[in-house]
Amino acid sequence: PEKTVTPELSAAPVHDVAPVLPVVGGDTLVPLVDGRQVTYANLDVAASAPALQAVADRVTQVLPLYASVHRGAGYLSQVSTALYETARRTIGAFVGARETDLTIVTRNTTDSLNLLAGCVPADPVTGEPGRVLVLDIEHHANLLPWQRVTDATVVTGGPTVAATLAEIEEELSSALAAGRPYALLALTGASNVTGEALPVAEVVAAAHGAGTRVVLDGAQLVPHRRFSLAETGVDYVAFSGHKTYAPFGAGALVGRRDWLDAGTPYLAGGGAVRRVRAATTEWHEGPARHEAGSPNVVGAVALAAACEELAALDPREVAAHEDALRRRLVDGLGEVDRVEVVHVWDDAVDPVGVVTFTVAGYDPGLVAAYLSAEHGIGVRDGRFCAHPLLGRLGFDAGAVRASVGLGTAGEEVERLVAAVRALVTDGP
Ligand code: PLP
Repeated sequence: PEKTVTPELSAAPVHDVAPVLPVVGGDTLVPLVDGRQVTYANLDVAASAPALQAVADRVTQVLPLYASVHRGAGYLSQVSTALYETARRTIGAFVGARETDLTIVTRNTTDSLNLLAGCVPADPVTGEPGRVLVLDIEHHANLLPWQRVTDATVVTGGPTVAATLAEIEEELSSALAAGRPYALLALTGASNVTGEALPVAEVVAAAHGAGTRVVLDGAQLVPHRRFSLAETGVDYVAFSGHKTYAPFGAGALVGRRDWLDAGTPYLAGGGAVRRVRAATTEWHEGPARHEAGSPNVVGAVALAAACEELAALDPREVAAHEDALRRRLVDGLGEVDRVEVVHVWDDAVDPVGVVTFTVAGYDPGLVAAYLSAEHGIGVRDGRFCAHPLLGRLGFDAGAVRASVGLGTAGEEVERLVAAVRALVTDGP
């Protein structure tokens, strides 16, 4: 049947919406041979966000200052060390680190969460691995480390935010009442499938009330919303540079010091140790404990530059920009026959700019290939490293995901909506 649409309730076209900041390669819509244009990076921001121009400039500036950090009195080594430690402070400040929090430079969110998994304290009574509560909506990066290293319990959320919160509260408090409280609740700051999220303040209140700490997988949240550990009371946050408008290879874990200082050093090697003898090793405390080996100085500096740029923006402007594009995608795609937009909850508030959809009768891989080959549009297809969620929602065959950010123009969103409409109307 034809879809019935109430036009006045649908978001209007966004042709005139301009990017908030220039990104490398994103401001130039490269013409294809036949005159059409390409949008490869700006509609796939949730996978990897194109670097900000200011970040690229900073990398060029620091690249000649190449020397290993913490390794000597040589002038360049000192400069490198200062750059690295300043970057660390900037990255921590960007996510509202408390004075006593540690900022550990990692490779990405996956690395950060694996690191933290090795630091969750064992159950004080049984000596068994600590208990971690996790929802089935998570990216595998925020599921598999807990399943492998800790005693993880995975719960299925309800159809609404309220029902999901109630389920979490019930699980946390009955574990406490049974004398086996959860050490940690691991939750995404925003779903990489739908952009939706639970209200952080309520989650933190429920967890802390049950003696449980909270780690937020900030991969999709931190680049798009102002987030603060100090203001929310969240205990740990993990995020990735390549989703925060910086290059690949650097990310961060920021949060409470005690577990990190007591936990197993993430990597064994130079820089993580105070004193080594044939049979004994004294490990450092602080970030160095988990950062053995020569660190990614340029990556950390680039991530810090992105943090500075984002911190200087008005968060309301960023949210308004991305929300206008997201609403247009949800409404514009939702109006096309045979298109279904995916949601985790019916009542989510303030989702980030991630929109996942299917086109009935077309394999998601074919839709993505058609968009690329026929319209020069790059989007993600598959199960988004979130197999449990896609399975529960009935999308085991996968779906197509578009996502927007600072560098995305309204025109690009309109081209995607028109392209999907053309697929359904005219065929591939
Ligand atoms: N968590 C979420 C919500 C993500 O979207 C992603 C990446 O897609 C990750 C974790 C993993 O990020 P990375 O591959 O940078 O470690």
